[in-house]
Amino acid sequence: MLTDILAAYDAVKTAWTAESVARLKTAYSQPVPADISVFVQEFPAALRIAMMQHDRTSEMFPLLDRFARAKNENGLDQREIDLASLLSLLQQSFIHSAGQCLAAEQALELVEAVLPVFQQATSWAIKLEMETYFSYMAQELAQANLTLEQLDRSKSDFIAIAAHELKTPLTLIEGYSSMLRDHLPPGASEPALLLDGVNTGSKRLRQIVDDMIDVSLIDNCLLSLHFQPIWLERLLRDIQHEFHSIVLQRRQTLEVLPFPGSQEMTFGDPERLAQAFRNLVANAVKYTPDGGSIRIDGRKLPGFVELLVQDTGIGIQPEHHTRIFEKFGRLGDAALHSSSKVAFKGGGPGLGLPIAKGIITAHGGAIWVESECRDEQRCPGSVFHVLLPLRKTPPDDRSARLFHPLTGLEGKSENQR
Ligand code: ADP
Repeated sequence: MLTDILAAYDAVKTAWTAESVARLKTAYSQPVPADISVFVQEFPAALRIAMMQHDRTSEMFPLLDRFARAKNENGLDQREIDLASLLSLLQQSFIHSAGQCLAAEQALELVEAVLPVFQQATSWAIKLEMETYFSYMAQELAQANLTLEQLDRSKSDFIAIAAHELKTPLTLIEGYSSMLRDHLPPGASEPALLLDGVNTGSKRLRQIVDDMIDVSLIDNCLLSLHFQPIWLERLLRDIQHEFHSIVLQRRQTLEVLPFPGSQEMTFGDPERLAQAFRNLVANAVKYTPDGGSIRIDGRKLPGFVELLVQDTGIGIQPEHHTRIFEKFGRLGDAALHSSSKVAFKGGGPGLGLPIAKGIITAHGGAIWVESECRDEQRCPGSVFHVLLPLRKTPPDDRSARLFHPLTGLEGKSENQR
C-alpha cells in the first residue's frame, strides 16, 4: 500500500517541482530568492521521508527550521513570502500536478496520504514563524532600549558637564559684581540698581546650575542624604514662611494643616526634604491663578506619613502624570518659557519635579500626582502625594552614632537592629 503511494508520489515529483517553480516565478516580481529555490528543491525529498515515518519530525522540521531562522537573521521584511504561504503554494501545486500526472482515483489516494503531512508542516511553520517573529521583535526592542539608555546617559553627561562649565564664569560674575558694589561711591543709586539686576540674574542662573548638578547626582545615584531628627510640621511651616511674600504678591493663600504624624520626630535630611517641598509649593504657586489657594495636609499610615500638596490651579492631563517627573519633562510650548519662579505659568527648565522625586525616593518614599485634567478656565487643581517612611531610628550608622541620646538605641542604626 505504502509502496504504491510512494511510487505515485515519485511519478508526480518532477512535474510538481517544475510547477511550484513556475508558480513562484509568477508570484515574485523579481527573480526568486536563492533560499526559496533551494527550499522548493529540497522539500519533496523531505516530505517523502516524512510520509514513511510515523514521527514526521526528523527530516522535514529541520528544513523548515533552517528556513525560518534564516529569515530572522536577514530581518523580517526582506522576504515577500512567509513559510506558511510557501507551504500552501507547494500544496496547491502538488494537488494540481497529481491530478495532471495520475488517474483520478490514484491521485485522490495520494493527496489523501500527503495532506496530513502538509497540515502538520503548516502548523509547525506557523509556530516557528511566530517564535521567529517574537525573537526578532525582542532583539529589536533590546536594541531600542540600549539606544534609549545611551541617549539618556549622553543627556545626563551633558547636564553634568554643562553645569560644571557654567559654574566657573558664574562665580566670576558674582565675584566681580560684588566687588563693583563695594567700590560704588555713596549715593550712586543708578549703578546700584543695575548691579541689582545683575545680581538677580546670576542668582537665578545659580539656582538652575545647582538644579542641573542635583539632577546629575540623582541620575548617577550619588545624592547623599544627611539624616537627622526632623519634625515635618516645622519643616513645612518654614516653607510657608519662605513663600509668605510671594503668596501675598499673587493674592493666594498657603495653608499648612497639622495632621497625625506631622509633629512626631522622624529621621530625614531637612535640607533636601525642604528642597523637594519648596519645588512642589513653587509649582503650586506658579500653576495656580492669582487668588487661588494651596493647602498642605496629610495623614498617618502604618510606618509612613502621606503628605498632600493641593492647589486650585490649572491641573495636569492624566497622560502627563508620569512624564512631568522625568528630567526636562516640562509641558507646554518651550517658546513661552519665562524665567520667573513665581509668575503664573512661569515655566522653568523642567527639573523641579525630577529633583523632588529623586529626594523622596532616596528617603525610601514615593511621589505621584492626581489631577483630573488641565483646564485653564475651570482650574480642576492638582494634588501631589508624597509618601515618606516614619523613621524612629536613623537609617545609617553615622547618624545613629550622632543622635543616639535622642533615640535611646545606643547608637544602633536600622541596619544593625
Ligand atoms: P518646571 O521647571 O517647568 O516647573 P517641573 O519639573 O517643576 O518643571 O514641572 C514639570 C511640569 O509639570 C511643569 O512644566 C508643569 O507643566 C507641570 N506641573 C508641575 N506642577 C504643577 C502643578 N501644581 N499644576 C499644574 N502643572 C504642574
